[in-house]
Amino acid sequence: MSPRDLKIPAERHPEKARRPDNPQPKKPSWIRVKAPVGEGYKKTAKIMREHKLVTVCEEAGCPNVGECWSQGHATMMIMGEVCTRACTFCNIATGKPPEALDVFEPGRVADAVAKLGLNHVVVTSVDRDDVDDGGAEHFAQTIRAIRKRAPDTTIEILTPDFIRCDASALEVVVAARPDVFNHNLETVPGLYPEVRPGARYFHSLRLLQRVKELDQTMFTKSGIMVGLGEDKQSVMQVMDDMRAADIDFLTIGQYLQPTPKHHAVDRFVTPEEFAAYEKAAYGKGFLMVSATPLTRSSYHAGDDFARLRDARLKKLGRG
Ligand code: SF4
Repeated sequence: MSPRDLKIPAERHPEKARRPDNPQPKKPSWIRVKAPVGEGYKKTAKIMREHKLVTVCEEAGCPNVGECWSQGHATMMIMGEVCTRACTFCNIATGKPPEALDVFEPGRVADAVAKLGLNHVVVTSVDRDDVDDGGAEHFAQTIRAIRKRAPDTTIEILTPDFIRCDASALEVVVAARPDVFNHNLETVPGLYPEVRPGARYFHSLRLLQRVKELDQTMFTKSGIMVGLGEDKQSVMQVMDDMRAADIDFLTIGQYLQPTPKHHAVDRFVTPEEFAAYEKAAYGKGFLMVSATPLTRSSYHAGDDFARLRDARLKKLGRG
């Protein structure tokens, strides 16, 4: 089994191919990752291939793939492997998706979840602006299929923003009752035009607020990357905005540049600065915070979910 070639910007990112190269700075000592080897890693890879599943772990070139896959944790990416957006930080292939949504995919995802024996699963997707409901019904079917096949597994979804869809699209997803609804804000509002040009900061924030309005019991989660050029004040403002939208769980991780054609790394934020962000976030009232250089939205998501649930019970005086 050969690893997928993720270093071909012209094919994966036609819109980025003509951009000048951004130099890729040397990674500091605190960004160290385990190599993808070992039996656990191979078993996870085999199940993904057998079920013809795409993972964001591979497509985004996630640095944690060695650690996560060794423990059987993979984040499945549904609705194909081509995204209709072209965010400048992201390594998912961009373009017009060649295929319609695969009606058998929810069943295959559910089967893989059962075979991996997961306590908690994270399901994400590409953006499908070419589909009327943005893939909302497909997400809902996937949640229902997992519930049926693996009833003890808790489900976390990491969704697109459904910006071009009717408001009912979000309602369809929430009605399928995932345990955690995650949608990443990705960066501070001032960097949206250059980092996330197809999205709108306040739309994403409102999406998460609306999830809570639709179902008070659902955990909401969101994350940003740092090291893209933001300042600390803007990060604090994002935290305040998230709390105003009643978001429970915040993740903050270091942006790493997938190829020279992607957004430049402005700087490597130190572990001490991450610790300060974590402290500030808890002070602002988040139930859970994960802020480390290698934090990704789905990193340690299973353990974090258990802690998230405990934190809510404690807050309600039942812990
Ligand atoms: S952190 Fe998330 S995306 Fe990265 S390897 Fe782990 S499960 Fe996959």
